Amino acid sequence: MKRLCLALVGIALLAACATVNPRYDPKKPHHRPHGFVNSDPTLHIGELPWYDVLRRNLRGDFRPLTEPAGGYTRFARDWSVTLDPQALQQRQESPRITWLGHASLLLQVAGQNILIDPQLSDHAGPHPWLSAKRRVPAPITPEALPPIDFVLISHNHYDHLDQATIERLLAAGQKPQFIVSLGVKAWFDEHGIGQVIEMDWWDTLEFGPLKLHYTPAQHWSKRTLLDANATLWGGFAIEWSAGQAAPWRFLYTGDTGYSKDFQEIRRRLGPVDFLALPVGAYLPRDFMAPQHINPDDAVRIMLDLEAKQALGVHWGTFELTQESFDQPPQDLAAALEQRGLPPERFRLFKHGEMRHLLP
Ligand code: ZN
Ligand code: ZN
Repeated sequence: MKRLCLALVGIALLAACATVNPRYDPKKPHHRPHGFVNSDPTLHIGELPWYDVLRRNLRGDFRPLTEPAGGYTRFARDWSVTLDPQALQQRQESPRITWLGHASLLLQVAGQNILIDPQLSDHAGPHPWLSAKRRVPAPITPEALPPIDFVLISHNHYDHLDQATIERLLAAGQKPQFIVSLGVKAWFDEHGIGQVIEMDWWDTLEFGPLKLHYTPAQHWSKRTLLDANATLWGGFAIEWSAGQAAPWRFLYTGDTGYSKDFQEIRRRLGPVDFLALPVGAYLPRDFMAPQHINPDDAVRIMLDLEAKQALGVHWGTFELTQESFDQPPQDLAAALEQRGLPPERFRLFKHGEMRHLLP
């Protein structure tokens, strides 16, 4: 009994500790003494009790209801291309992007190699049996990546911040500058990883001709039982000025529900040249809508940002939610057609596909 009491006191203390936000700035509307909130502070995402998460898990909310037509093997074949690591080696002045599956991107611009939310492992989660399963092989290993200058981490969910990928990258001798959302540096400190800069919404960093902004999104964060929304979530805008009148502007939204944040990003930063945003993990809608856009919302965000081109990510790799793997392409095509928009404006890449973003 004494032991049980001590354990309960321990858990209570741990919970109390976990609720302190060391980055709290009362002047900022999305800051709270215990963590962070969305631009709409009435939204409470990620605060479901564990038993509700368990109930939904057992009910099947977090895996596809059906296989894609033709099965997973065929889907993986149809949605993959062979990526020659040699082709990534040459540094690029003019922007080029490669989809590494799920939300992982390699943006090469201004001679810099920028790796976004790298997750190249065979599961996304704290433990193989508590994780989303990978269904399409990663197109590259962390060891085969070119020299990485920056690793950007949008938020601390396991499908975006993957310990194994980062450890393999470092073990391969890479020494990138990590740029992470506010509060996430503590995780890097715990793991003995240095060279980390944290960013709050609207913070800006400059690296030569590149300007980096951390942008708001409507989402949440959680890595352990006790740290719901203790660290910030968002996206990254990258501007490249190469003597043009206006910079070339890239935006990766990070995970998000549909919100007014994107109109605000457009207002503050200007129109976007190339947009990368999620088009997967959106069913069941009653549960997912506040935290994950569907393809129709993604098209609305593309229009809100006046984005010239968009690329859908966060789909077709890990089993996360109820929609089948081949539903996002169909829903995206329908959303574009409904608005009379050409399919070339909002594309889906195959795993490992690389494209130059300017002529
Ligand atoms: Zn997330
Ligand atoms: Zn995600």
